[in-house]
Formats: sequence, structure tokens, C-alpha cells
Amino acid sequence: MPLELQTEFRCTEMAMLTANHLSDQSRARVILMLGAPGSGKGTQSSWLSKQFGIPRLSTGEILRTEAKRNTPAGFRLRQILATGALVDDDMVCAVVGARLQREKPENGLILDGFPRTVQQACFLDSLLADLGLPRPTVIDLEISKEGLLRRLAGRRQCAVCGSVYNLISRPSRRGSRCETDGGALVQRDDDTEGVILHRMEEYEAFSAPLIDYYKTANYHRVTADRDVNAIAKDLLSALSMPARFTLSSAA
Ligand code: ADP
Repeated sequence: MPLELQTEFRCTEMAMLTANHLSDQSRARVILMLGAPGSGKGTQSSWLSKQFGIPRLSTGEILRTEAKRNTPAGFRLRQILATGALVDDDMVCAVVGARLQREKPENGLILDGFPRTVQQACFLDSLLADLGLPRPTVIDLEISKEGLLRRLAGRRQCAVCGSVYNLISRPSRRGSRCETDGGALVQRDDDTEGVILHRMEEYEAFSAPLIDYYKTANYHRVTADRDVNAIAKDLLSALSMPARFTLSSAA
């Protein structure tokens, strides 16, 4: 192929690659799940992650894993998580930043439990810009205090795979064992009444300024005091997408 044609071919190929890349980037989605402890962020975000085929990152899960380590940071985390207080911004931002810089989620991601403060939200804005990801769509799951206490007291989690059940609204068909792998269903250490109340106070203290921060963004408030499938349906219409799975098949 003559040189000028080769050059033209390369330019066309480059333009197509760039166009594909740009359209991939423009299809990328970042979804933030806000909501009090027990509002269903974990259940809904795991399901949305399958719907959209994008990864989910839960800071609560990452921090609980870190807390199991026998390191000074692990020890400090265990103490914080046991009280229900928020972990300090610098530590959470460092964990999220390192994870996203390493994984570079080009098609976007769902963040469950991050950000929880305005400082974390500012950090996230610059991190997303750095990664070439769009501004987030924010889902705020709203639920009454009675609804929260009821849910959290009945929440059980598989000790092996982390699947979440609820004694009242989503019991396991295998009793006290996980339907997927037979693992024992246990209560989270921070799902005891005193710790739950402290987690709620922390949420109330920090959520108002955070919601204010996102009010001008692509923000959707969804009532979460309802059946999981009804909530999921509202989430999809907020995110403008037809359902591919039902929630129970993706749990
Ligand atoms: P929940 O939303 O039900 O409280 P999570 O699993 O999201 O449950 O969080 C559990 C705990 O992890 C919180 O009580 C808090 O101590 C800590 N945590 C999680 N995400 C953050 C965050 N973004 N900033 C500070 N602390 C966090």
C-alpha cells in the first residue's frame, strides 16, 4: 500500500478507534447509592451492577475486609466499625482512590456507601475527572426510621459469599443456610441495636449537606419503604433502562 494511503488508512483507523472510545466513554455510567443504613443500598446496587454490567464497589465491604487484618490500620478500623462511627475521610478516600486507579473501570461503576461526606464527594469529583468518567447519577433511597430498624434487626448475611437475606422480607429457602453455597447466615457485628442507632445518627449528621451538594446533579429520590422489586422498577426508570433480570434472580 502506497505511503499516503497507509497514512490515510491509519488516520481513518485512528479516528474510528477514537470515535468508538468516545462513544464507550459516553456510555459509561457512574451511579451513587445514597441512603441510611438498611435502606437497601447493597441489595439494589448488586442488582443494578448485573443489569448494567458494571462493577459495584461497597466501601463498607472493603472496610470490613481491611478490619480483619492484623495491622495497626486493621485494629483502628475494628474499633471504629464497632461503634458505628464513620471512618475518617482521608482513609476512605485513599482506599477508594487506590482501588479505582488500579481497576480503571472504563464503563463506569456503582458506588455503594461512598461518598458519605461533602469532602468525600469533592474527592470523588476530581477522581472521576481524572479517570475520564462522567458526572454521577445519584440515587437517594429514602426510608422511615421504623422501617430501618425492622430491616437491620432481621438482616442476615452469608459468612462465605456475603449474600444478604432478611428474616422477614427475604428469608433463605434453606433456613439458616445460604441458598447459593450453604454458608451459615450470620448477623453483622454492627447490626446490634446500639450500633444501629449510632450509624443512623452519623447518617443524619452528614447526609443533609451531601444531598444538598448533589441537588443540582442528576439526583433521584426513591422511596425505599417498599417491596424490593417495586424499588428496582423505579430505579430503572430513573436510570432509563428496561429490566433484563428480576431482582430475585440476581440476589
Ligand atoms: P451501612 O450503610 O448499612 O451503614 P456499610 O456496609 O455501607 O453499611 O458501612 C458500614 C460501616 O463502614 C459504616 O458504619 C462506617 O463505619 C464505615 N463506612 C462505610 N463507608 C464509609 C464512608 N464512605 N465513609 C466513612 N465510613 C464509611
